Amino acid sequence: MKMQKVTKIGVLTSGGDSPGMNAAIRAVVRTGIYHGLEVHGIMRGYQGLIEDDIQLMESRSVANIIQRGGTILKTARCKEFFEYEGRKKGYENLKRRGVNGLVIIGGDGSFRGAVQFSKEFDIPCIGIAGTIDKDILGTDFTIGFDTAVNTAVEAIDKVRDTMDAHDRIFIIEVMGRDAGYIALHSGIATGAENILIPERKTDIDQIVESLLEKERRKKLVNLIVVAEGDDFGGADAVQKVLKEKLPMAEIRICILGHIQRGGSPSCIDRLIASRMGYHSVECLLEGRYNIFVGIQNNKMNYIPLENAVKNKGKISEEWMKIVKILAS
Ligand code: ADP
Repeated sequence: MKMQKVTKIGVLTSGGDSPGMNAAIRAVVRTGIYHGLEVHGIMRGYQGLIEDDIQLMESRSVANIIQRGGTILKTARCKEFFEYEGRKKGYENLKRRGVNGLVIIGGDGSFRGAVQFSKEFDIPCIGIAGTIDKDILGTDFTIGFDTAVNTAVEAIDKVRDTMDAHDRIFIIEVMGRDAGYIALHSGIATGAENILIPERKTDIDQIVESLLEKERRKKLVNLIVVAEGDDFGGADAVQKVLKEKLPMAEIRICILGHIQRGGSPSCIDRLIASRMGYHSVECLLEGRYNIFVGIQNNKMNYIPLENAVKNKGKISEEWMKIVKILAS
């Protein structure tokens, strides 16, 4: 498809929110303005695109947001964008404003929408991973993961204090329906005895055996970190199974939930969001269209947007071995 030179860009946040999205918006807006581009902020992801809820951004529009969680552009899930008619409405709104480049900050679902859109219309799209799950191919980091995992660590440390005081088994559920990175990282960082993740089959008998063995050694405090999407389906289900097998044990659960999505982004999330946001605009100016902007081995990594899919089942054996050895 013949593309015009990019002169006016749009930026939107879509799908699940993540801390650091604001830092990315700020970077896109300010890099665009630095290069003399007009930058349009699209509200509520693809929903605002279709409804023409779009506003011109100035440098001041993104002042004092780098430290704020959530997204000033708001985010949404949008059914209409799954249909050609919906995407066409969005295209027409951009065309009328002369917007000829788009930056999408979101997860793999948002990228699938962008891939479809860029196949049908002459507006190039760039994707940046804004998701707490860290499960997108082509990048070592996603915006929000570091903050979410640090929030989980802080909360688990607090639970550990009370757990220690009472000699209890605690099961803590963290976010991660399809990806276990939050569970793995927060579990290792808080010294969890067991970490249950969707990428691996859980051997419950082996967990029971390790709890009994620890009991024999008078190691009564046990921390189990569970991703919400593990084989059993989260902390409630794991508690039920363990109670059946260990009726005398005192087993408590704590589900961290949405606190993991909010809060002020960590320094790392602000840095990667700034870097990815900056490069997304540079890419549009250089004519690198319909790509995903990631960071790998501390270098920018560009892959076709359609390849920026969920990274499934890639948690290394090394990590699992470390968990086992360090928890003994
Ligand atoms: P995330 O981007 O966090 O993975 P979703 O999977 O909910 O979140 O996707 C966000 C939005 O992207 C959807 O509500 C929809 O508007 C759009 N989208 C997702 N998949 C497609 C698709 N296959 N075609 C068109 N639009 C899509």
